[in-house]
Amino acid sequence: MKEAKEYDFSDIKEGIRLHLNESPFSPPEFVINAVVKYLSQGNRYQHPDLTRRMKELAAEYNKVEPDEIFPTPGGDGAIRSVFLNLTLTGDKVVLNYPSYSMYSVYSSFKGLKEKRVPLKEGQDWWKEDWENILTEARDARIVAIDDPNNPTGSPMLKGDEGKVRELVESTKGIVLIDEAYFEFSKYTVSKLVSRYPNLVVVRTLSKAFSLASFRIGYLIANKDLVKILEKGSTPFDISLPALIAGITALENPSYALRVADEISRNREELYQGLTRLGVKVYKSITNFLLFKHNEDLLEPLMRRGIAIRNPIKGFYRVSIGTKDQCKLFLEKLGEILEDSN
Ligand code: PMP
Repeated sequence: MKEAKEYDFSDIKEGIRLHLNESPFSPPEFVINAVVKYLSQGNRYQHPDLTRRMKELAAEYNKVEPDEIFPTPGGDGAIRSVFLNLTLTGDKVVLNYPSYSMYSVYSSFKGLKEKRVPLKEGQDWWKEDWENILTEARDARIVAIDDPNNPTGSPMLKGDEGKVRELVESTKGIVLIDEAYFEFSKYTVSKLVSRYPNLVVVRTLSKAFSLASFRIGYLIANKDLVKILEKGSTPFDISLPALIAGITALENPSYALRVADEISRNREELYQGLTRLGVKVYKSITNFLLFKHNEDLLEPLMRRGIAIRNPIKGFYRVSIGTKDQCKLFLEKLGEILEDSN
């Protein structure tokens, strides 16, 4: 346990936050109002009816059944439940490399054997090594795929049901498809969960719904698996404010689609801007862009009040902010690149 990896918070400071793929917007006012109203009625644990309501709304949003929804404290809560509650020490986990860092954090905490399958770098997109994943999946306990992938921003299975079926049928383990960026990518494999007891889809309201601070998300899975996961948590894992925020947001999903549209437009402009600066940047269907650079950018950007991330050596990931934030980032990056020439 002592040797377990930790989430790396070292590059997180104050300033313009373009390092954690949050929404640049505050939680919507209608959500805050609903939360304040509910809290002013007293200090209490959440009622099971609220969890039920959250399940119904998430089911409606995804055209699945309420019993196939497990509300969680953020997408991370869903990932944590699967990695910690459904494995035994020594089990094998198959991951793309690079992919979302928390898979490795939980996997090392639980003493799981991690098999990394490197993504293949292309001109515009990164691609999974499908044959290798299928081979490694055979004796895996978990195969975790973030789709779209973080940090590359590339699509992986693209909601291809044939591919997902091939994968879930090739293993007795859990296939976890992390669709944290679904509102941006707009494709999903969620409707397959009723047929496949070993398929889990992870979702979050942290991104397009602008609720990262509340910690609310959910998992979509076969109802038998949802029941097992529910037994491994308390009904109070999600705070009351988070639950009210999640319910109110899912009652008004058009908000998230508007945010996703706006951020996607800003992303395309930022992509063009980076290209104009001569930076090698990859295409993305998420709220972030990955680009290549060999020298340190974290420190000079931080000095100029902007935080971005360096997820792998020689590559930087920048979250898409407001139009003004993107403009400022390009300006500051331009200055830095000019100084180093
Ligand atoms: N999955 C992926 C791929 C992510 O990038 C993130 C956040 N960066 C999450 C899950 C978890 O986000 P949260 O816990 O805020 O829902």
